[in-house]
Amino acid sequence: MWRAQSGGLAVTRTSTRPHAGQDYRTTYTDLLHALNQPDCPVCRLVNQAVRQHVDVFLYEQLLVVERRDEIRAARGFCSIHGAMLVGGHGRMLGAATLHQDILNDVVRQIDRAMRPPMSALKRAFALGLRAMLHNVMRAVRPRRMCPLCEYERRQEGIVLRALVNDINDPALRSAFERSAGLCLPHLQMAVVLPDVPPGNQARLVELERAILAGLKAELDEYLSARNASYEGGAMGAEADAPLRAVRLVSGRVVHSDGRT
Ligand SMILES: [Zn+2]
Ligand SMILES: [Zn+2]
Repeated sequence: MWRAQSGGLAVTRTSTRPHAGQDYRTTYTDLLHALNQPDCPVCRLVNQAVRQHVDVFLYEQLLVVERRDEIRAARGFCSIHGAMLVGGHGRMLGAATLHQDILNDVVRQIDRAMRPPMSALKRAFALGLRAMLHNVMRAVRPRRMCPLCEYERRQEGIVLRALVNDINDPALRSAFERSAGLCLPHLQMAVVLPDVPPGNQARLVELERAILAGLKAELDEYLSARNASYEGGAMGAEADAPLRAVRLVSGRVVHSDGRT
């Protein structure tokens, strides 16, 4: 199991109730701050936590055997988390070390999948060839999900649980009403979170619905303005509504690359 040695989200307020058995370390103040920033607050906090976690890993855990085993078994990170490794000279060194390990294992496993050498007769049959190619596929494919997606999923649960548990807190509710709202992937997660008060989840949906309807109205205004003037010169706050809508609908959830 991938665990943060540092970074992640920390508890600063006792009214958010930890769920038994979960690493519940999110903060009320972090959420309040994120709700005052553009876009989904959960995406923002999780993104910060994951980026911090990448640095912690590359500087502190690169040589930990269990972490290396996880990454080798996952065949590296998913494409989005993999891209986080290649910024900066320090990260390049870490990326080289990790990927040398992965590629070494992939080549060895491909060799094993292709052994013993097939006889000329067997080679002649497409069936034998297909079986060999299937073994190669099994040698190359990930055996577990991306470790950073796993970490990200855990952080999402922590932040969402804090948001739902405290949604009736006047300051948090007010901040949420004025916020960009949850992206749709995080809304989906929020409404099926176990072990949180369903009444709070319903309250969150009411507030989110108002935000979604408001953004939809802004898109209406944007489209009307564009239809009236092709240049879209005289727009108000709705000028960037399409951008905000794309981010709200898509979010930044990346654990959809097939690593299960
Ligand atoms: Zn989100
Ligand atoms: Zn990932």
